[in-house]
Amino acid sequence: MPKIAVIGGGVVGMSTAVNVIESIPGARVTVYAERITPDTTSDGAAGIFRADCPPGVPAERAKEWLALSFQHYGSIAYSAEAAKAGISPLSGYDIYTSEQPGSMLSLEVIFQYRSVTKEELAKLPMNFRSGYFMSTVYVECQLYLPWLMKRFASHGGRILKQRVENLDQFVGEYDVVVNCAGGGNKTLLPDPAVYGMRGQLIRVRAPWVKQFCYANKGDLGYIIPNTSNVVLGGTRQRDNYNLVPNEDDKKMIWEKCCKLLPSLKSSEWLYDWVGVRPFREPLRLETETRIVGGKVQKVVHNYGHGSDGVAMSWGTAVKATELVRQILDTSSKL
Ligand SMILES: Cc1cc2nc3c(=O)[nH]c(=O)nc-3n(C[C@H](O)[C@H](O)[C@H](O)COP(=O)(O)OP(=O)(O)OC[C@H]3O[C@@H](n4cnc5c(N)ncnc54)[C@H](O)[C@@H]3O)c2cc1C
Repeated sequence: MPKIAVIGGGVVGMSTAVNVIESIPGARVTVYAERITPDTTSDGAAGIFRADCPPGVPAERAKEWLALSFQHYGSIAYSAEAAKAGISPLSGYDIYTSEQPGSMLSLEVIFQYRSVTKEELAKLPMNFRSGYFMSTVYVECQLYLPWLMKRFASHGGRILKQRVENLDQFVGEYDVVVNCAGGGNKTLLPDPAVYGMRGQLIRVRAPWVKQFCYANKGDLGYIIPNTSNVVLGGTRQRDNYNLVPNEDDKKMIWEKCCKLLPSLKSSEWLYDWVGVRPFREPLRLETETRIVGGKVQKVVHNYGHGSDGVAMSWGTAVKATELVRQILDTSSKL
């Protein structure tokens, strides 16, 4: 029976843990996580399935991850599990002030999209010149993570809420260690290529808002309905790790979003939230063989998902599981 440790209880770690336990027969899988839901970065994400190519990753590779993810999310969105999993179909505008819309890798894998017409743009507030109308999904991690944890536990998976100081502590104990510690790798490995991008957002109650709006890749604001509230964003501040909501940021987000959708002025404020997007250039999805005290340790790394980790997570989890399987197949032949 292979023994596998997964470090990380965010959307990347839990997706990987579920994939490993469901597709490797007899696998005994333990998740080690300093924080679990509702206290991970993933829990606060706006959760829209809308992704660009991560920095440093070939587009074809990233597109495959996104296609695998959307296959998974799209099928849940139209299943009886959708409400419990926090995944639902979501349509809306992705619009730009430039003549040409920005690139977006996820367009080709979602349910549907079309370019917006000039006539349509003329009916929207502000001076937008290009964009798309699309049908995608949202994945609300405050519901999705508990759902994944339950699914993992139903196969006998264990979750230990504890910090891992060093991968060396697992030598000889596990056949494979899967590292999904996100931004924690800045100190865990430590990996100097990991950096953070601070994001602040506001959650409001506005049940009349049924469509999302993403303006200039979020620079002019974004409005994303979730199950019982609406996310207003946001900020992108590189190398800023301050998790305390900032009044200036809040004001700026509020003003931008009210310009996009003035009816938000009637919404009820629920809470402000800050998270740090865990970037690594490129996202690290590979096997490493470590030698510790003369012993071999096999590690599969799956971290650095940056701005689009919810969207990318299931696809990279499928690929990380393939790497785990390759390691186990090779060692069983030795
Ligand atoms: C404001 C904001 C909005 C966002 N909106 C979206 C969106 O709409 N769509 C989208 O796709 N993405 C979005 N993202 C990005 C998304 O949140 C991240 O890409 C994703 O959450 C990364 O998941 P993760 O599991 O790698 O990291 P995390 O959720 O941070 O999880 C890391 C896990 O590793 C654990 N860990 C770390 N170090 C250690 C250690 N030493 N020992 C033990 N455990 C450790 C942590 O405790 C945690 O359990 C948003 C992010 C922010 C900040």
